[in-house]
Amino acid sequence: MGVSRSLPVLLPVIDDQRWSCHSCGLCCRTLVGHLTGEERRRLDEQGWAKQLGVAPYVKIGRVWALNKQPDGACVFLDEQNRCKIHAKFGEADKPLACRIFPFSVRPVRGAWQASLRFDCPSVTASKGQALGGHRGWLGELVGQMVRDRNLAPDESGEDVADFQRGVHATTEELRTLTVRLSRWLSNGTGARLESRTSITNRLIGATRLTATLYGAKLKKVRGPRFAELLDLLLEALPRDCTTRPEPPTARQQAMLRQYAFAHAEHVSLAEMRSGMGGRWAKRWQQLHSAKQFLRGEGVVPNLPGFDTQVTFESVEAVGPAMERREEIADLARRYLTARIEGRTVFGGGFYGWSVFAGLGALWLSTAAAGWLARYHAAVERRTSISFEDYGLALGIVDRAATRLPALGTITEKARVSYLMGDDGLARLMMAYAVLESAQ
Ligand code: SF4
Repeated sequence: MGVSRSLPVLLPVIDDQRWSCHSCGLCCRTLVGHLTGEERRRLDEQGWAKQLGVAPYVKIGRVWALNKQPDGACVFLDEQNRCKIHAKFGEADKPLACRIFPFSVRPVRGAWQASLRFDCPSVTASKGQALGGHRGWLGELVGQMVRDRNLAPDESGEDVADFQRGVHATTEELRTLTVRLSRWLSNGTGARLESRTSITNRLIGATRLTATLYGAKLKKVRGPRFAELLDLLLEALPRDCTTRPEPPTARQQAMLRQYAFAHAEHVSLAEMRSGMGGRWAKRWQQLHSAKQFLRGEGVVPNLPGFDTQVTFESVEAVGPAMERREEIADLARRYLTARIEGRTVFGGGFYGWSVFAGLGALWLSTAAAGWLARYHAAVERRTSISFEDYGLALGIVDRAATRLPALGTITEKARVSYLMGDDGLARLMMAYAVLESAQ
């Protein structure tokens, strides 16, 4: 294993995906910006403690992070949504966590795999420069990160995941799966989604395909035989995906609500640092809210960032989108492609989960985004989902997925495993669809 400064950065291929920063300041309010020792030293040398009047960074458990203002904004964010470090010392002096957003990278075999985050409004709106145009600066940034942090990507390491316990998928098999899945979700054309098969039906098809493979014995179905099996299943999907799922059972719905809550609920920096008493109070409140989400009756406990109360009934009453439907379908397609092509779905990109359990979690979180979009619409007193509701919901889900340790636990694996049965994922996908399915 050796340090390489020239490993390529693999960008996810997402048709029609654009991004440039439009300085909305959202990431400066929602991210926890982790710092290296070198970055802390630089902030000290720049004399920020004196200039800000508060500590520029704080310790959370065993890591250091940028300090926050009382309203949750980064301590360096000014009234015009500008970064004080950037304004005074230039972009290159900002911590890497801030500079690289909305991309994230992880080492894979002989390269750095980049993924794109959808908790940036310019990403959800696909505004700015074509994604490929960012390759240069991202490569330079990764090179700098490797040098500064003395990182050593394992050039011989495989970006692998298990199909099942003891059955390792090869890089080639994973590529076969991800390429075919992305193609299926993109209507087979790799281009904009049009009317041929709705995104809802494609998602229903994808959940059923995943459930079939999750239960299949794949030990002897390897390499070209795995590709053949996949092609056979995909050939049947256009028919299978139009068989309307039954409505979800009460238990399936309760599990979905809890999953949505697990993504939306996060502990603020102030709560993290409030000592044992404060942390236990927070845990108690989370437990209480989780029980309410399980019951699904009465008032929805306020989720972080929302202070308008709505009932569970009013959330369920919100209908699928009526306007900007094609844009919403396209947003779903771009998000799912980013997760699949960015490899944040299984293996090292998703808590070390096996391939089909990880894909199951992706479909379940997509249904959870449907619930969260309805919640946001209900808060805004709307009766159908808007593009903004769905963008915000995907942002909540994407911020949590792969980052919240709670989502990688054995409890969550058991939830996904349970919902693989009895057409559970497809039922939830239909019930919380953001666009009605084409029958
Ligand atoms: S959320 Fe996106 S657009 Fe807004 S400041 Fe951050 S990177 Fe820029």
